[in-house]
Amino acid sequence: MSSTLLTGIAELTTFATDGPDVLERAALVMEGSTVAWVGPEAEAPDADERVDLGGRAVIPGFVDSHSHLVFAGDRSAEFTARMAGEAYAAGGIRTTVAATRAATDEQLTAHVGRLVQEMRRQGTTTLEIKSGYGLTVRDEARSLAVAAQFTDETTFLGAHVVPEGDPAAYVELVTGPMLDAAAPYARWVDAFCETGAFDVDQARAVLEAGRAHGLRGRLHANQLGPGPGVRLAAELGLVAVDHCTYLDDADVDALRDSGTIATLLPGVEFSTRQPYPDARRLLDAGVRVAIASDCNPGSSFTSSLPFCVALAVREMGMTPTEAVRAATATGAAALDRDDVGVLEPGRRADLVVLDAPSHVHLAYRPGVPLVSSVWMGGRPLTPFS
Ligand SMILES: [Zn+2]
Repeated sequence: MSSTLLTGIAELTTFATDGPDVLERAALVMEGSTVAWVGPEAEAPDADERVDLGGRAVIPGFVDSHSHLVFAGDRSAEFTARMAGEAYAAGGIRTTVAATRAATDEQLTAHVGRLVQEMRRQGTTTLEIKSGYGLTVRDEARSLAVAAQFTDETTFLGAHVVPEGDPAAYVELVTGPMLDAAAPYARWVDAFCETGAFDVDQARAVLEAGRAHGLRGRLHANQLGPGPGVRLAAELGLVAVDHCTYLDDADVDALRDSGTIATLLPGVEFSTRQPYPDARRLLDAGVRVAIASDCNPGSSFTSSLPFCVALAVREMGMTPTEAVRAATATGAAALDRDDVGVLEPGRRADLVVLDAPSHVHLAYRPGVPLVSSVWMGGRPLTPFS
């Protein structure tokens, strides 16, 4: 197995289990696909190959734990209308559902491929992809089959919105034949627990049916207003509950006590002009916080975790280090992954080299393409693929 020594790292953000989050004038050795050594450059061991990064910063590859990449169609007109003052409503999803059902598997696969490439260029090395724009047995199963070509972290979200007809009958379909067809392609099951989507009993039924098929639960909750979804996630011991914009003190206590990660999605608040979730309140209460893109055509069509990091710092009260941790180490935890998100011996050598001396520049220089190179499994992605 060949080894590569990266030198000239002005600042190495590791989020190592033990030791400081950040090392200055550091080096890193990769052996095969894993990290073998990190430490001060002056103490670096020898390796087969040497790459001088010229004073750049290195961070773990971003882990985007929440995205909806399998879709077709364009909703830029809806965005324009919303920016002109129209309210955001969950029902806009239905326009994407119609376009997704009409698309071929090849069209869906090509579109997901383009978005994944876009993510890679911005430093995302691990991502989750949900279904949820098919909403029929056939279209949910094929959406997940497409997603599974790009990641192991696939999530069945048949309970995204009620497409038509009686909600109770639709939940029967989701927890019955649709789940049977989707489960072979999915690791996770999710539901949109919100007024206008699924109530808490329906969300519970979906998560429990998924669990009976071997799928682990995650939840969209408390995005558009207060509700019982976050406490359901805590009660069921889910690894993560996503959005968490409208929380009362009991919700915050429940998240802290259960250890359920609050995944915040600031691209949504940016794109819908809603109030941002209060990350500072959650962190100060001892809740673990992740951030993710929620990349989707309706409420957050960004694939950029650097942008989300900048928003988290500017709008949600996080420090730059907290925001980068939330998009790497805690994002990995939100997918229950202990092989990525951290740079220490034994982890996958997934990392991002920044054209900047420090990770702080991700927030300090918003909108600037700072990603110099991306390494996955110990190899540079050049050209990005
Ligand atoms: Zn979402």
